[in-house]
Amino acid sequence: MELLGDRSARLAATLAVAIAIPVAGLFYFQFRSISALSQSSAVVLRQLSQETANGITQSLQDALKAPYINVLLRVSQAQTEPLDLSLIAPALDEGLNAQPFVDRYYVWSDLTVEHRDEVLAYDREHRDFTTDVPEAAMLVTRFKELAPQKHAISLFETTIDGRLTYFQAQLRFRFPARDKLTSFVALRVDAERLRREFFPAFIASHFNHVDGPTGFPPLTVTVVDAGGRVVYPYGGPPPTRYVDERTFALVFFDPELQRFIAPEGHKPEMWRLRTGYDNQTIPDIVAARERPQRALMAMLAGVLALGVFFVVRAAAREVRVAEMKSTFVSSVSHDLKTPLALIQLFAETLELGRLKNTERAHEYYRIINSEARKLTRLINNLLDFSRIEAGLRRYRREPGNLGELTRRVLDSLESQFKHNQFSITLHADGDVPVLIDPEAADQALENLLSNAMKYSPDNREIDVDVGREDDYGVVRVTDRGVGIPARLHRKIFRKFYRVQTDAGSGPQGTGLGLAIVDHIMRGHGGFVRVRSEPGTGSTFSLHFPLYAGETHGDETDSGDRGRAADVARSA
Ligand code: ADP
Repeated sequence: MELLGDRSARLAATLAVAIAIPVAGLFYFQFRSISALSQSSAVVLRQLSQETANGITQSLQDALKAPYINVLLRVSQAQTEPLDLSLIAPALDEGLNAQPFVDRYYVWSDLTVEHRDEVLAYDREHRDFTTDVPEAAMLVTRFKELAPQKHAISLFETTIDGRLTYFQAQLRFRFPARDKLTSFVALRVDAERLRREFFPAFIASHFNHVDGPTGFPPLTVTVVDAGGRVVYPYGGPPPTRYVDERTFALVFFDPELQRFIAPEGHKPEMWRLRTGYDNQTIPDIVAARERPQRALMAMLAGVLALGVFFVVRAAAREVRVAEMKSTFVSSVSHDLKTPLALIQLFAETLELGRLKNTERAHEYYRIINSEARKLTRLINNLLDFSRIEAGLRRYRREPGNLGELTRRVLDSLESQFKHNQFSITLHADGDVPVLIDPEAADQALENLLSNAMKYSPDNREIDVDVGREDDYGVVRVTDRGVGIPARLHRKIFRKFYRVQTDAGSGPQGTGLGLAIVDHIMRGHGGFVRVRSEPGTGSTFSLHFPLYAGETHGDETDSGDRGRAADVARSA
């Protein structure tokens, strides 16, 4: 029996290892590829953010210095000294078209005849030179003040009509001493319009060309001015989490030229451009994307493990059933041979007529009878089992009395009890009317009594109680035999199941007796119960539904067929 356990355990272990190793390998590589994918996603996200931050910052700075390069430098000293307005006008006009944030250009010259020392403005409204310039005096004064520093670029900001305004000029000096301001070309930028209109429109148009990452949170760009105000998206909340940040100087010339400007030591406003992913960090995004995949993998692993478990269990069970069947055949042969040999022996002795002692002869007849009963029980069990397996076992129930039935069975087994020195005590509590198939009920009770004898090697007392319990008539068979461990209480009702004994010693049996009892009881709408402890003995009880007297017998099929198949299947 131990060998059996070993074999099915070995099979289970082999199967488990054979399936588990490749599956574990598969999962290992799958998990690794998820991590690799996450890493490359992180690289792609980082790169996209970096490139977008660099690209937009660069474009912004190019746009901011464009009026300086394309207008202020393009209008040369030769064109302003003396003023050649027909050459200057197209440059300023193009400048206004190309740089939407510049409100107005100015020219002023001291070395000219017409418009000498007069500030001429060229703005969006007129698209021509005008001399009606309220800020003219202020401009000339400021640039003249800055001229002694001898720097070509001059920059300042002031408030005009309550609005912050930036002014920038390219100054020209008397050559080569640079001791006198001779002319300038200047521009003016409205700070609020720059923030509200230029930045949002410029970034939006550049950002539109950036392809957002598919399957990830969208890439976002934010521009924050020196005072911490969000300029893009205008008025939006400042981002708390971002991936890249670039700073840039809000000046309308190349920041590299910072040392050539007047006033010296002017500190430009530093603005910041940030790129990120919807306020999330890249590790967070990657982890969030990985999570469902990992969860799916874990779930799959769980399902697979469960599948492996069931396959292994089923395979081990099949091996066990196969092994049980083979021991069953040898048990049946043994159970057939022993009584047959005894019957033959005693019958031959009687036939030879050598027995003078009639009491001895009587004893021989009794043994023959008892062995024949054993054979009948065995064959009945086998036939019943095959009928149950085929789903053909039917019970013909009729009103009967459980006390009578018990007495009848005990009487028929009396000689066996006597021969094996068992003392039986019967307690029967009045009438217990039940609906039963007498033959099947006899068989169930006989199987219990026969087991009580078989598994009681030392204390040979058996109690049989008949009574009522709830809605059932109950027969209880109590022995003081070897008992059964609690964990096997369900298993003993499975077909072919036999409790393992050391080195296979102990009584022989087919392992069918209790499976048949269980089937019979279900066929009666009742059940069988066991209470048992190793070493103290067992109580098996048959519970038949009580009969109230309205019906007059019926026929049920094999209990419930589903259950019949169940009994037959389980082992
Ligand atoms: P069998 O007796 O032919 O082995 P059964 O189906 O009648 O088959 O019983 C199944 C197992 O239950 C037995 O092998 C035995 O170990 C255990 N068993 C049944 N009845 C008793 C009992 N009265 N005392 C101890 N063990 C029992």
